[in-house]
Amino acid sequence: MLRKKIKATKMLNQIMSDYYHELDHASKSKDKKVAWCSSVGPAEILRSLEFEIYFPENHSAMLGSSRMATDLIPYANAIGYSPEICSYLTADIGAYLKHITPLSKAYPDIKSIPKPDVLVFNTNQCREVQDWFGWFANEFKVPLVGISTPRTVDEVTNEHITFIAQQMENLVKPLEKISSNKFDIDILKHVVALSRECSELWKKVLETAATIPSPFTFFDGTIHMGPAVVMRGTQQAVDYYKILLLELQERVKNHIGAVDGERFRLYWEGMPIWGRLRHYSELFASLKTCVVASTYCNSWIFKAFDEKNPFRSMAKAYTELFIVRSDEIKEKYLHEMIEFFKIDGIIFHDAKTCPHNTNSRYGMPQRLENEIGVPNLVINGDLNDLRCLSDEQSRTSIEAFIEQLEES
Ligand code: SF4
Repeated sequence: MLRKKIKATKMLNQIMSDYYHELDHASKSKDKKVAWCSSVGPAEILRSLEFEIYFPENHSAMLGSSRMATDLIPYANAIGYSPEICSYLTADIGAYLKHITPLSKAYPDIKSIPKPDVLVFNTNQCREVQDWFGWFANEFKVPLVGISTPRTVDEVTNEHITFIAQQMENLVKPLEKISSNKFDIDILKHVVALSRECSELWKKVLETAATIPSPFTFFDGTIHMGPAVVMRGTQQAVDYYKILLLELQERVKNHIGAVDGERFRLYWEGMPIWGRLRHYSELFASLKTCVVASTYCNSWIFKAFDEKNPFRSMAKAYTELFIVRSDEIKEKYLHEMIEFFKIDGIIFHDAKTCPHNTNSRYGMPQRLENEIGVPNLVINGDLNDLRCLSDEQSRTSIEAFIEQLEES
């Protein structure tokens, strides 16, 4: 067998099912409130106010992985959203316009996405989330609130942290009103502590891939990151990662690699191609190559969370992220990852509709290759719009890249 199954996946499927059913229930109930949140938005504040939290990016990734996205994007184009912009946004709006959701495919008793009582964004990742959420706020006639974060940040300074922490504190009053719950700083501290624990465990999970052979691939990571994204700040996420970590540590102990006969170790820089996860996972495995790590999966490691200082530590954690930073900081980070994970080559995914998560357009691959001598390959594609990808062309490039590694 080329790809090995992870036993914890059964538990993962169960907790993701529980998560979506709780959201569905909250959406139909008068007592519970639903907040939509951007993937690296201030989820802890929302959780402390007892909102059920829905993450549209996770939904859009499901549209991608179920290969529904490409056909839905034109419906958003038809109301004025360009085919050139974020295909999470266009696929998600297209799905809404067509009354379609992959949630019904996965869970037949769930008929629609949960209706929001409020939408909360942070522009740390991009401005697109603000536009995207703004469209839905208008559609559902509910409030839109958010945090504006500077981008291309070099060092994260005290001034940055004060500016963002203040915006986070300012969210409390309007959110308190919508939730009908009183804000309690001790509850927030507890949630931040759980988020920190989840983040530390997720980091340990990802770091098992530094072992040769690696027990875990980037493709596994894109599936198992679900709880770190949508359930951070809960005990369920913490419990899940303890179990997953034990399984991977067992693999490490027994020298079991995720890819049989691992010969090369690659790093994936950029967004996943959701509709082709299995395709690429099998292609790399057939070449006895393990894509061991990625910036994408690492993006839900938040080192700064500190329950003693919840607002400032959240402000720091959500601003230190790779996507928010300058090229210089990004290159330093990639350099560290390449050494830590013992990487032979880097795949840069140039995602046509996400410039924010694409780092191959301004000379970074060449600079890294010159500095540390690690070869790279740029694949043109997209996170959700499969019309931007040529399977044949990328297969040929990947095979040629592996041959190049064999010769070096
Ligand atoms: S980071 Fe990219 S993929 Fe994610 S919401 Fe922003 S534009 Fe879309």
